[in-house]
Amino acid sequence: MLGKQEMYHTVMASKTEKFQLHVPSLEELRQVLENGLKQNFADAKVSVTDCPDLTQEPFTFPVKGLCGKPRITDVGGVPYVIPVVHPDKIYNMNAVSKEVELPGAFILGAGAVSSKTAGMNAELMPLVLTESEGKPAVNASYFSSINPEDGKCLQEKYSDKFHDCDFGLLANLYVCEGKPGKVLEVKASRRTGQDSLVTCMRKTMEQCYPDKSLALGGTFVIQKGKAKIHIMPRVFSPCPLQTEEDVNNWLKHFEVSAPLICQSVMVSRDPGLDLRVEHTHGFSHHGEGGHYYIDTTPDIVEYQGYFLPAEYIYRIDRPQETHKIGRD
Ligand SMILES: [Zn+2]
Repeated sequence: MLGKQEMYHTVMASKTEKFQLHVPSLEELRQVLENGLKQNFADAKVSVTDCPDLTQEPFTFPVKGLCGKPRITDVGGVPYVIPVVHPDKIYNMNAVSKEVELPGAFILGAGAVSSKTAGMNAELMPLVLTESEGKPAVNASYFSSINPEDGKCLQEKYSDKFHDCDFGLLANLYVCEGKPGKVLEVKASRRTGQDSLVTCMRKTMEQCYPDKSLALGGTFVIQKGKAKIHIMPRVFSPCPLQTEEDVNNWLKHFEVSAPLICQSVMVSRDPGLDLRVEHTHGFSHHGEGGHYYIDTTPDIVEYQGYFLPAEYIYRIDRPQETHKIGRD
């Protein structure tokens, strides 16, 4: 049976696939998410509020808000990293903004650097106001690599080292006009369940809307406590990574401290686009950042975030050969 959503599933000339997502009212989602978060946190509150000015601390984004034609995109994928790397998979944020039909958009999310630009592999925390009508892009992204001197996490400002808007291999991105407006404010503290903030929100939507696909994108701050992250090594694995265990042995895991400013994209249910259904990268102002899994201090953790449901998902350069390894 083809539902209404499936009718909008079209394939573009460039092979990017576009899918219309279900968008409940913010008031409805507020209630759904608050109920779900209360199953996983001692305290949880979700409200509909004006987006705070994201140009201010701790966010320091190049735009004020998360609003205006919200959409998400899943670019490339884990199959371009494992079992063997595809170093030719290089993308560009300005091109992505056009591909998702919003040139000049603001883009945030989770991805990998272009190894051609960086001369190495690294985690990318994209925060890019893309170019528009002669105005150059503003790239406020961060990237994290493993410091060859001490094996620790080395987070740097992208624009301190590089001058393009390229990225590589994969990314999960939230794209919007960067305007102020109404958003969902999520506050949750003292984790009582096993799920991360993002997994809890995603599963809640999956359970409440079992036959629909919803997506949220946005930013949250881990205000107190610590979190488990990973960083991909600078050098790609010389031998193919065949299992989840191989991947976990290749990745470097760290425990990092709050405050961490995390950018997240989540989809309640994959409508058949071979998606990574959640992906979150975080940066800090104290030199730590990377791929977020979960807080490691449930008794004291405090989250505060801002999210908006996306209207469309665009699947860009979907891998032909796929697998489910390495999508945590
Ligand atoms: Zn990641």
